[in-house]
Amino acid sequence: MFKSNLIYKFTVVTIILIILSIFVSVLLQQDLFSIIVLSTTLLIFYLISVLFINKEVVRPLKIFNYFASETKSNEDNDESNNFEVKLAEIKKVNDLISDHLNKANYNSDIKFLFESLVMLSERLSNELNTAKVFKINRNEFLGNVAHELRTPIFAIQLSIETLIDGAINDEKVNLDFLNRALRQASRLKELVDDLITISKFETGLRMSKRYFDITEFSKIVINELKSLAENKKINLILENNLSEETQVFGDSERVKQVFVNLIDNAIKYTPESGKVKIVLTETEKHINIDIVDSGVGIPKKDIPRIFERFYRVDKNRSRDKGGSGLGLSIVKHILEVHNSTIKVESEENIGTKFSFNLQK
Ligand code: ADP
Repeated sequence: MFKSNLIYKFTVVTIILIILSIFVSVLLQQDLFSIIVLSTTLLIFYLISVLFINKEVVRPLKIFNYFASETKSNEDNDESNNFEVKLAEIKKVNDLISDHLNKANYNSDIKFLFESLVMLSERLSNELNTAKVFKINRNEFLGNVAHELRTPIFAIQLSIETLIDGAINDEKVNLDFLNRALRQASRLKELVDDLITISKFETGLRMSKRYFDITEFSKIVINELKSLAENKKINLILENNLSEETQVFGDSERVKQVFVNLIDNAIKYTPESGKVKIVLTETEKHINIDIVDSGVGIPKKDIPRIFERFYRVDKNRSRDKGGSGLGLSIVKHILEVHNSTIKVESEENIGTKFSFNLQK
C-alpha cells in the first residue's frame, strides 16, 4: 500500500480545507474579495506549517533514520563474530549522535527520540560485551577440556603401544601396563561424567527437592567413603550436634554429590593417618555442615580461585590424585541452586574447613 509522507498528507488536508471553505463561502454568498482573503490566509498558513513541520519533524526524523540504520548495519556486519569491530562501530555512531544532539536545537519530543536511540545502542553494546565474555570463556573452557582429555588418552595410548611392542609377553610388566591403562580410562570416565554434569547445569538442571533426614543421609555417605579413608588410614568421623532427627529440604542426589566431592577432596588432600570430620550443627532455620580435614591446606592466594573450572592449586599433585579440577565448581553450582554458599577456611599444613548450610 502506498504510504504517503507527513507533508503530502498535510497538503491534501489543506487543499480539501481550502475547497471546503470556498464552497461554504459561496453557499453563504460571501463576496469574491472575502473568499480570496480566506484562501490566501489558508495558503500562507499552509506554507508556514510546511516549513515548520519540515524543520521540527521531517528533517530530524530523516537524520534519526540515518543514525538508526547505521546502528542496525552493525548487526548485519559480515564479520559478525568480531565483537571488537561491532563494539567500535556502535561507539562511533553513539558519539556521532551525542555530538549531533549537542549542536542541533531540537524540540523536546525529538530530543527524547534521539536519547532513546542512544540508550538502545548502549544496551546493544552491553549485550555485545556480555556475548564477548561468554565467547572468551567458552573458548577457554574448550581449550581446557581438550587439554584435560588429551592427558589420559595419551597415557592409555602409550600403555597399549608398549604392550603391542612386546611388553605383552613380559609377565613382569604386562599387568602393570594394563592397570595403568585402566586407571587412566577411569580418570577419563570421571572427567566425562563431570563434564556431563556441568553441561546439565548450563542447560538448566531440574532439581527434585524434598525433605530428607540429614543425620541418616550423612551416615550413609560416610559409610560409602569409608574404604577410601581406610586405604589412607584416615579417621573419617561424623560429629552430630543435632538434638533430634532433623529434616533438610533439597535434592538429596545433588546434595550427595556435594558431600562426596568435599569428603573425597578432604581424603585426597590429607596425608596418611590424618583426620576428616563432618560436623552437623543447627540454627533456627538451617543445618550447618562443616567438612574439616587435617590436610595440606590451601595457600591464601589460591582460595578465591579454587571454585573456578579446572583450577588446581598444585596441578601435578591434583592430577596424580585423579582430580578433574571440576569438583568444586560443581559443588558451588549445586549449592547455589539450594540458595546456599560455600565458605572455606584453610591453613597450609594444618588443614581445611569447607562450610555450607541447608534449609530446614
Ligand atoms: P580436583 O579434582 O583437582 O580435586 P576440585 O575442583 O575438587 O578439583 O578442587 C580444586 C582444587 O582445590 C584442588 O586441585 C586442590 O588443589 C584444592 N582443594 C580442594 N579441596 C581441598 C582440600 N580439602 N584440601 C586442600 N586442597 C584442596
